[in-house]
Parts: sequence; structure tokens; C-alpha cells
Amino acid sequence: MTRIITITSGKGGVGKTTITANLGTALAQLGKKVALIDADFGLRNLDLLLGLENRIVYTIIEAIAGECTIEKALVKDKRQPNLVLLPAAQNRNKEAVSPEQMKEIVDRISANFDYAIVDCPAGIELGFRNAIVAATEAIIVTTPEMAAVRDADRVIGLLEAEGIEKISLIVNRLRPEMVQLDRTIGVEDILDILRIPVIGIVPEDERVIVSTNRGEPLVLDERPSLPGMAFKNIARRIEGDDLPFLDLMASYDNLFTRIRRLFKA
Ligand code: ADP
Ligand code: MG
Repeated sequence: MTRIITITSGKGGVGKTTITANLGTALAQLGKKVALIDADFGLRNLDLLLGLENRIVYTIIEAIAGECTIEKALVKDKRQPNLVLLPAAQNRNKEAVSPEQMKEIVDRISANFDYAIVDCPAGIELGFRNAIVAATEAIIVTTPEMAAVRDADRVIGLLEAEGIEKISLIVNRLRPEMVQLDRTIGVEDILDILRIPVIGIVPEDERVIVSTNRGEPLVLDERPSLPGMAFKNIARRIEGDDLPFLDLMASYDNLFTRIRRLFKA
């Protein structure tokens, strides 16, 4: 059965689109057939993160209106034959699509894939409803900030009210040095508030931003990086593997001792 996963948060700018692009690519690397669906109308940046913006001819709007077939609207990724993107409309009214239309199109697409992953807009208005209407499960993304955690909490309530029971959490942009110095809430505190299972913790890392700007998801980079490993591990956990979490504090401690040693030398 196809798994339709919505990536959501409530608050904007916490890393939903980044995570959608990296998890989709990582699942495709595991041999799964993946359709990424951009439900963030007006912004349309999932295509940029995937480096597919120049290959877009049709969008979800034309597919819904029947102006093109669904197959024609799906943009294929040259680097990842298992991955396709259904682009969002640009400069179109957000009200142009209804939840019923969205559900129909996502259900039709997902029939041919192992995973359909829907990138959600910020907020909890129509765009949010469109992004969750077809979902069978959800991944909530939060950063270690109270404002983001509070919005995540609210969204969890809304998802449960919609009957989406399988909900897991990604804590993104964790800065071990801030946790160490007690300058931010830690993962334990976040779990105490949200009480949903955590499926991944991704450190703050500028390589994520560089890869975003380049239109190449970090998981495609062969050079090892902690965030790249974190994304790949999440994909494997989605697939059901029971993997230990990366010790982000340990890597920070090592760096810290290395720097100290440098200064002593
Ligand atoms: P959203 O889709 O939730 O609005 P984005 O995925 O667009 O968020 O990410 C917002 C910004 O945060 C982008 O500039 C992105 O590169 C950056 N970002 C996301 N995750 C990380 C991370 N782990 N480390 C550093 N920067 C990140
Ligand atoms: Mg986004």
C-alpha cells in the first residue's frame, strides 16, 4: 500500500521543504518509488531545492483542470529515476484548489508509487487542509524554539481531529552547543510537550543551506555530513529500520576538545 505522508509544522521556516526534498531523495536512493507533491502554492520552492525548476511545464493546477494528464505534470528527476515532483502553481490564487480536488489528485498519483510525500505550507488555512486531506500519516517538523513547538502542538491536535493517527516528529536545526549551554530547549523538553514519537534529529549545519541554494539535496553529496546522515537515517526509520540516533552531543564534544587542544598546542 502507498504511504501518503504530509510534512507539516504550523510555523514557517522550520525546514519542511528541506526535509521533504532530502527524505524523498533518500527514499528513492533506497529503491522506493517516490512522488513529491508541492502543496505550498505561491512559493513553489520544492522545485528549486530539487534543482528541477527549469523542467516544469505543467503544474498541479493544469493536472486538476484536466488541461494535461497527471503523467505530463510530473517532473522526472534525472539523477533519481525513482523520484518525481508534482509542482505547485506559481502566482496562482491559493483558493484555486479545493481539498476534494487535492485528495483526488494525490490518490491518483500515489497509486503508482510507494510513497507520496506532501510538502505543506505554513499556517493552518486552506493550504494546510489541502496538504493533509489525502495523508495517511504525518511528520511534524519543529525547531528547538518555543514558538515552533507551540505551533507544532496545535497542528498535532488538528491532525488527530482529521483522523491521522500516525504522527512522528523531526527536531530540525538542533545546535548542540546551545543545548550544552542551556540556551535552548532540548529534545527531551520538546518530547515532554508534544508526546509523539521522534523519528529524527537534524543538526543545524550550513551545508544544508549550501545544498539548498545549489538545488541538490544534501543526501546526494557523497562527502559524509551529520545532517546528511540524519536525513538518510530518517528515511530508513520510515522504512521500518530500528536505528540508533546519531550522538550529536558527542560530535560537538569532540569538536570542542579538538579546539581546546588546538589552543593548548
Ligand atoms: P519551511 O519549508 O518549513 O518554510 P525551509 O525548508 O524552506 O523551511 O527552510 C528554511 C531555511 O532554513 C532554508 O534557508 C534552509 O536552508 C534552512 N535550513 C533548514 N534546515 C536546516 C538545517 N538543518 N541547518 C541549517 N539550515 C537549515
Ligand atoms: Mg516550505
